[in-house]
Amino acid sequence: MIGILNEQQIDSLLRSELVGRLGCHAQGTTYVVPVFYYYDGSSIYGYTKEGLKTEITRENPSVCFQVDRIENLANWQSVIIQGEFQILKGSEVERAQQLLTNRMLPYKTGDK
Ligand SMILES: Cc1cc2nc3c(=O)[nH]c(=O)nc-3n(C[C@H](O)[C@H](O)[C@H](O)COP(=O)(O)OP(=O)(O)OC[C@H]3O[C@@H](n4cnc5c(N)ncnc54)[C@H](O)[C@@H]3O)c2cc1C
Repeated sequence: MIGILNEQQIDSLLRSELVGRLGCHAQGTTYVVPVFYYYDGSSIYGYTKEGLKTEITRENPSVCFQVDRIENLANWQSVIIQGEFQILKGSEVERAQQLLTNRMLPYKTGDK
C-alpha cells in the first residue's frame, strides 16, 4: 500500500542512503545515472567528471534525483526531488568535497 512520507521520514531517508539516481533531459535525450551523494538538509552534493551528464545538465539544469530504501517487497520508501544542477566553484568545492569524503569514509574502510 502506498503512503506519503512526512518531512521527517523524507529527511531521514535522504540522510541515511548513499546512492541516488540523477535524472536529466536535453535535446530529446533522457538520461539517468546512479551517483554517490551527501545531503545536508537542503542540498544534494555529488562528484562528477565531465561526461554525458554534465553535457546534458549544462544544456538543461533542471534535474530530478531519486533515492530509495527497500527492506522487502511490501516495505520500501522512495523520494523524488526536482531541482537544479549546479557546478560549484571556489571555496564551495572544498566544503562539498569534505562533506562527501566524511560521508563515504566509513564505506571506504569497510566499517559499513
Ligand atoms: C553505485 C554507483 C555509484 C556511483 N557514484 C558516482 C559518483 O558519485 N560520481 C560519478 O561521477 N559517477 C558515479 N558512478 C558512475 C556513474 O553512474 C556514471 O557511470 C559515471 O558518472 C559516468 O557518467 P557520464 O554521464 O559522465 O557518462 P559518460 O562517461 O559520458 O558515459 C557515456 C555512456 O556510457 C553509458 N553509461 C554511463 N554511466 C553508466 C551507468 N552507470 N550504467 C550504464 N551505462 C552507463 C551511457 O550509455 C552513456 O551514454 C556511480 C555508479 C554506481 C553504480
